[in-house]
Amino acid sequence: MKLLVVEDEMQLADALSEILKRNMYSVDVAYDGNEGLDNALTGLYDGIILDIMLPGMNGIDILRTLRAAKVNTPVLLLTARSEIEDKINGLDCGADDYLTKPFITGELLARVRAMTRRKGEIVDDNSMGFNGLELHKNTCSISWKGNDVKLSLKEFQIMELLMANPKQILPKERIIEKIWGYESDVEYNNIEVYISFLRKKISAISAPVQIKTARGIGYSLE
Ligand code: CA
Repeated sequence: MKLLVVEDEMQLADALSEILKRNMYSVDVAYDGNEGLDNALTGLYDGIILDIMLPGMNGIDILRTLRAAKVNTPVLLLTARSEIEDKINGLDCGADDYLTKPFITGELLARVRAMTRRKGEIVDDNSMGFNGLELHKNTCSISWKGNDVKLSLKEFQIMELLMANPKQILPKERIIEKIWGYESDVEYNNIEVYISFLRKKISAISAPVQIKTARGIGYSLE
């Protein structure tokens, strides 16, 4: 899952990014409102953690602009205790939830899970699944009927993306944007390599799931 953190307090932004990365999210950080809006408008993210008081454009205006542009990425607003008005305003403008600073890591992660808990077949907070094949965040592995196999981080992220969009062709460009970032110079054959590793691992545990190739387009989980 790919998250965007928009927060101008650098220490807090970097701490957030660190915590989220340790929990298997890929994270982009924007330190001001304009950059945050530009990133958010790409629609590439599974969730946005958005501070309200920001240089450039404030969080509420970013949220309003996003919703007006029909970007429906879930948004978790970061608010200070004194910003009750902003909180109400934010929820009215289409925020999905808010988190009051200061917060503890457990609460942050729970709110992020709730915010992104919309797609795929969810097994529990740490796992998602497709046709009996389960993907486990805490162990970075896939399992089927008690057999499991470890995944690398990129393999995990690709599998998560496929599971969140089952039986749909995911274009290679989309996979690259989501996992490596839209400015990356990763080539299509890098993805092919990861897909072939994943296929071997899926067949190693005999799971009844296939990653099909849509020639010239991308991949789908079937
Ligand atoms: Ca701020």
